[in-house]
Amino acid sequence: RADAALAIPDRADIDAWWPRLGATSEKYTRGVVGIATGSATYPGAAVLSVGGALAGPTGMVRYAGSAAGHVLRQHPSVIATKRVADAGRVQAWVCGSGLGTDEAAATELRTVLATSLPVVLDADALTLLVGGRMADQLRGRDAPIVVTPHDREFARLAGGDPGPDRVGAALRLASWMNAVVLLKGDRTVVATPAGEAWANPTGTPALATGGTGDVLAGLLGSLLAARLPAERAAVAAAYLHGLAGREAARRGPVTAADVALALRDVVPLS
Ligand code: AMP
Ligand code: MG
Repeated sequence: RADAALAIPDRADIDAWWPRLGATSEKYTRGVVGIATGSATYPGAAVLSVGGALAGPTGMVRYAGSAAGHVLRQHPSVIATKRVADAGRVQAWVCGSGLGTDEAAATELRTVLATSLPVVLDADALTLLVGGRMADQLRGRDAPIVVTPHDREFARLAGGDPGPDRVGAALRLASWMNAVVLLKGDRTVVATPAGEAWANPTGTPALATGGTGDVLAGLLGSLLAARLPAERAAVAAAYLHGLAGREAARRGPVTAADVALALRDVVPLS
């Protein structure tokens, strides 16, 4: 069965993949991640995904969207604009969480997909994809796409539940979408179009609280902007996100903001 080809990452893998600082490191060469999430209705999604990105290895985080005021109050190091098209230099995009599904949101997603950059698509971006209007743009892309569905989002994308063979289900969706699939759950699965799969060993039910997926997407975007291959970025993000959930749970009831902060304690030192 598909599980035969299943790899389990360990701490040594993550440490080996993590980008390190050198004496002459410079903010732009470390990578710039663009975050197109949140909205006036859901500003928290923007704050949380930016929080995840700020725990990653990039030298700069740019935010594009209508929650800029909230983002800047929480995270003054971020550079904010209203629109993806105005964001300037970015090396990978995260699009989706809390974005909404109206025409303005669809325009932002289209702008992200029209770049030649790696992208993470989550939440509302996945809902917008299901409409099928973006199919041509997906197929025409060379740069990697990572989709990060939970089960209900997976069911919408794939036209059915993942079922008991979650690895097989993720592999089939990855092949069909030509994207890396990070299927979230208690044992998050990462699957590639080439047929590779990983199961994350660090999950914790402490993550079963609103907004933790937004933190994961932000961290994953930072790793893509730092030029990790998409499958390593996805595996490392899931692994560290789980550790952060466990770390946060040692202190008491966990919120997604706690997970973003705890990521700083569990990521490899740069
Ligand atoms: P989202 O539903 O988009 O906010 O994402 C929820 C996050 O929490 C994902 O990273 C899931 O893998 C994680 N998560 C939710 N429930 C559990 C669970 N019971 N065990 C481990 N991880 C979980
Ligand atoms: Mg989510």
